[in-house]
Amino acid sequence: MHMDEIKGELASIISAVKARIDLEKRFGVDTVTLTKSDVGANGCPPGKAVKTSGDRTSMSEKEKKIKLLEDIKNEMLACHKCTLGKTRTNLVFGVGDPMASLMFVGEAPGRDEDLQGEPFVGRAGQLLTKIIEAIGLKRSDVYIANVLKCRPPENRNPLPEEIVLCMPYLIKQIEIIQPKVLCALGTFAAQTLLNTKAPVGTLRGKFHEYEGTPMMVTYHPAYLLRNPNDKAKVWDDMKKVRDFLGELSGKDSKI
Ligand code: SF4
Repeated sequence: MHMDEIKGELASIISAVKARIDLEKRFGVDTVTLTKSDVGANGCPPGKAVKTSGDRTSMSEKEKKIKLLEDIKNEMLACHKCTLGKTRTNLVFGVGDPMASLMFVGEAPGRDEDLQGEPFVGRAGQLLTKIIEAIGLKRSDVYIANVLKCRPPENRNPLPEEIVLCMPYLIKQIEIIQPKVLCALGTFAAQTLLNTKAPVGTLRGKFHEYEGTPMMVTYHPAYLLRNPNDKAKVWDDMKKVRDFLGELSGKDSKI
């Protein structure tokens, strides 16, 4: 390896460590150990692949992303960084098109998701699928993931230390997929990605930014099941996402 490459990798690792420390500070966690998964395979920062001498050069962009996502998932299958690793039935990694323009981020798996190993498959998931279809897309057109990849017992709220420990995986997923737009579903996704304590009610309805990517915040579908009167607000939020993607693609008819 050349000196420039070594310097580049060192800079990347330092950047990943700084990001992790920042995340820990944000959640008031001060006893978390940095692991290999926080800097990624081969010492790379989350989601950044090491350039090798040709093993991936013949792969399409989609194949590369599929491979990178598979690598992280395989790494995560053995993850027991927090106690949820002991109680999960299945890891719930993420699902969808790795080339998706739109990526949804929810909170954590529930019972159905834990049993099936796929995010948003219960009643809230069916509602999310309807929301996606309402803006002219199919579920398979988008990518869906959660902040936590393992189910909290009894569907309790994620704990700060669980978020800190699991966030590097979500960061990697976003870096690999590189969506044009993110959509945070509910309080935990919005507050975690935006580094804020502001309530979702004040964050929703407008675009924010996560690491340079526009991000809409809206209510979680599970909240909507309990508060159906707020469906109109989510529809307003999703129309903004639809229009934004339409402007990007230069055609209104697709979405
Ligand atoms: S929730 Fe995340 S950090 Fe905790 S065990 Fe599962 S994958 Fe690992």
